[in-house]
Amino acid sequence: MAKVIGAFLAFGLLFTSCFAQTAVLKVLPWNGRRAAVSLTFDDARPIHLDVAVPELNKRHLRGTFFVPVSKLTRLDDWRKVLLQGQEIGNHSLSHEHASALTVEGEETQVEDAKAFLDSNFNTNITIFAYPYMETSPGLVSWVKKYDFAARGWPGNGDLLYVKPDVEPDWYNLPGQPIFTKYDVSVYKGWVDKAISLAAWTTFQFHGIGDPSTGWEPIPTHTFLYILDYLKSQEPSGLWVAPFGEVAAYLRAQKILEKAQSEVIGDREKFTWEAPSPFPRGVVLKVVINDARHLRLFQHGRELHPSNHGVYSVSFDSRELILRGIA
Ligand SMILES: [Zn+2]
Repeated sequence: MAKVIGAFLAFGLLFTSCFAQTAVLKVLPWNGRRAAVSLTFDDARPIHLDVAVPELNKRHLRGTFFVPVSKLTRLDDWRKVLLQGQEIGNHSLSHEHASALTVEGEETQVEDAKAFLDSNFNTNITIFAYPYMETSPGLVSWVKKYDFAARGWPGNGDLLYVKPDVEPDWYNLPGQPIFTKYDVSVYKGWVDKAISLAAWTTFQFHGIGDPSTGWEPIPTHTFLYILDYLKSQEPSGLWVAPFGEVAAYLRAQKILEKAQSEVIGDREKFTWEAPSPFPRGVVLKVVINDARHLRLFQHGRELHPSNHGVYSVSFDSRELILRGIA
């Protein structure tokens, strides 16, 4: 064994620990902000087009709309929603209870819905929300094939706030359902708790205003209060972003933290693989905790830090080289 290590040393090559153990590099959670909140809207209700989307757009906020194919009317309007920067997710073909599905039904509810949505929205939808928050092993297996993240059952209260130092169940991420009886202090509490825990939480809306607009409608003034309160927290470090964007950032962060490295001379090279499917274009915010002059490269190109010393690391590149470690 000593001979092998000696041989590696002779060539200046050594295998070292993974990214998270180097203590030199650190991924900043939540896109470099303190905490994250995602707003999700279920069931493709017309009120989402008429109230939720315009009110989000007005405030430059972006949310996620989980649409079941069978409830999708006004398709042209929904296409505009995507073009305006909002996120669309798969909410199954016909919104059935998990226990009512046959083995074949489990497949078509995920697969056929995705095929319809992808072709009609001309995109690749890789997030899912389980109807009625009900999962089954069969449904989950199809979701794992076509999606990289799914919103599921909120589980016990401890899991409602996803912390960046734990690996969550990507196929059963929590959401907090809205109930008509809650007043603004409940929702302010959700946001404040996410910030105090430096965690991510997801709101789950259905109707807005009148009871005809959907399940457990939130009073319109309460809905607008939430949007304004979220907006007021952005300058102090809250990241309000679509469900899939936050999930992709966190999942990429967890993969980079586990990336293995090899040392060659004064360079340490980290490499990793992306899961499949996984969205392209995820950029991780990374800092160097070291007084030495260290430089970061991806595919031969040097990365330059922001004024705050933050590097933008492309997850798609699947490699990161740290130079100047010798
Ligand atoms: Zn639903």
